Amino acid sequence: MERTCIRCGKPYEGRSDKKFCCDDCRTDYHNQVRRERDRGFRTVNRILASNWKILKAQLREGRTRLSVAELAGQNFNFEVYTNTRSLLPGLRTYWCYNCAYRISRSGTVRIWEGGCRNNAYL
Ligand SMILES: [Zn+2]
Repeated sequence: MERTCIRCGKPYEGRSDKKFCCDDCRTDYHNQVRRERDRGFRTVNRILASNWKILKAQLREGRTRLSVAELAGQNFNFEVYTNTRSLLPGLRTYWCYNCAYRISRSGTVRIWEGGCRNNAYL
């Protein structure tokens, strides 16, 4: 049965479990998949690292409450976090690694250090 290579689109003959016309196409394909994956990891990791530094800097200064606007002004990215739980009705807790924060309806962000593991909040 004739198939087409998923890398270059060239037709080839071969075993039914083969996906590529040649080893070069197989290698190129897997390298490209890895590059795209790494790019995605790096983007998210960069945002998490930046968010963590912002939260940590606040805690270091003893600031545990600030406004959403203040955090946003420091380029805090509210879209990316490592974990989230709804511990209280209508009040969601977010984690950036070991820094937790909760945003009240009035727009106050409360920050504290503490992990989240197996439903136990440290
Ligand atoms: Zn090919």
